[in-house]
Amino acid sequence: MVNKEHLLDLMAEIMDPEIPAINIVELGIVRGIEDSTPPNIVITPTYVGCPATDMIGEMIREKLDAAGYDDVGIKNQLSPAWTTEWITEPAHEKLRVYGIDPPGAHTPTCPRCGSANTKLISEFGSTPCKAFHACKDCLEPFDRFKCH
Ligand SMILES: [Zn+2]
Repeated sequence: MVNKEHLLDLMAEIMDPEIPAINIVELGIVRGIEDSTPPNIVITPTYVGCPATDMIGEMIREKLDAAGYDDVGIKNQLSPAWTTEWITEPAHEKLRVYGIDPPGAHTPTCPRCGSANTKLISEFGSTPCKAFHACKDCLEPFDRFKCH
């Protein structure tokens, strides 16, 4: 019998390859553990075709194998699609500290000085799922998660 809590703890040790400040459970990629025999880790990629998704799959596989969970599988669940709402609240603060404006209904806010006096530089930031902004007050450029 597999200990689901332990599996989730293991998953929480895997940091997002694009944002090493938060783990893949906080990011909402890990949806849970499927009660099958053997069980599956259910994951939903942030974007279909996002290159980080393959990498995350490999990282999970390595983590499982290293912990002796060779029989535990990984299942991709594409529906419902991942949404920025799945990013946990504690992870929002970690994103801010890391210099990324977390998703939400708020106006773009500089993660460095908190100013809302910003401008959009590009619809595409360091990755397609983020937009690139700059703060007009402290001049800090920053990424912002797009809501979808
Ligand atoms: Zn600023």
